[in-house]
Amino acid sequence: MFAVPADFDRMNVERFKRVTEEKLRGVRCPEHHRPPRLRFHGASLREMSISISGCCSRLMELANARIASPDLSLE
Ligand SMILES: [Zn+2]
Repeated sequence: MFAVPADFDRMNVERFKRVTEEKLRGVRCPEHHRPPRLRFHGASLREMSISISGCCSRLMELANARIASPDLSLE
């Protein structure tokens, strides 16, 4: 009998992280020219949450809009 790979869910989490990081690539604050800082919470996709921090609210808006955009709409 095969065991379900213990890291299967973790792989999905890693993928999710990569996709999310990809979305934020190139996002910079127009005023301070800083990238947002991204943090992931939770060990599985189901409980995964993201927190973004940045230098100012303008950057937060940009980052949030980018995160909320559909996958694979990368430019
Ligand atoms: Zn800023």
